[in-house]
Amino acid sequence: MEIGNFLPDNQERLLGYLHRLQGNPPGVLLLEGGCEEDRSALGSYWAALLNCREENPPCLSCSTCRQIKAGVFRDVYFFDGSQDSVKIDEVRQIRRMMGEKPEYGGPRCFVFNEAQGLTVSAANSLLKSLEEPFPGNVFVLLVPLRSRLLPTLVSRSMVLTLNWRKEEGEEEDSVLKWEGCLLEFWRTGQGLFEHTSRKKELDRNLVRSIVLCSQRNLLQAMSGRAEGAAQQFWLDSLQRVSFGRVDGLLDKALEILNYQTNPVMVLEWIAVKIWVWIRE
Ligand SMILES: [Zn+2]
Repeated sequence: MEIGNFLPDNQERLLGYLHRLQGNPPGVLLLEGGCEEDRSALGSYWAALLNCREENPPCLSCSTCRQIKAGVFRDVYFFDGSQDSVKIDEVRQIRRMMGEKPEYGGPRCFVFNEAQGLTVSAANSLLKSLEEPFPGNVFVLLVPLRSRLLPTLVSRSMVLTLNWRKEEGEEEDSVLKWEGCLLEFWRTGQGLFEHTSRKKELDRNLVRSIVLCSQRNLLQAMSGRAEGAAQQFWLDSLQRVSFGRVDGLLDKALEILNYQTNPVMVLEWIAVKIWVWIRE
């Protein structure tokens, strides 16, 4: 049984929140930020925290904890929205299950990994379940950013934001350098193409890191944190272009980077789109 990655690194602040919420768990907990692996690990951790009956839960070694980790505990249901695999019928079943007593005392947990991938009908059915809560049932929604969910789902959730993983030091420098290029380009229309046309270093992974870095800055600006030049830039720009629009574009860029696209063109594409939007 692998429980080594149950507890992600660099999420102590969030773990502290979860432990404080344990005594009075919110009906819907939304975890955003970080990476998919960390969100998924924390979703399982939360379910174990609520269901483990050892002295200092979650002990991560009792049969409850191990079964939750393996995805076979009878009071914890996992749904995965990432491959369009959640069937509307399964979500409808939730209503029926909520009325029954949990097998082991509960609370019963319904964990939705990559919940932004739910179909509209599945998301609406889920919303119905959240609207009429039954005691003894809690929900966990795991998403990259809350803006990717129906606002009606978000408004029923307690939202906690994970830390993003720190990249390797070397890569971080190059990401910051490109972030500077993008900011200059968005402000002045210059300072990007002379770099993209010359630089061979701009591979798929680096472009992905640059896009993720922009998303992180955007989210920080949205939550009112203007710690650096990039966050300040977004804070100013969000008066002219909507958060959802930029976030959607960056999300699309991450998706097409998975295909046989030219990463330099993907970077130039988002750079130009945003440049145009903030001048509209
Ligand atoms: Zn345990």
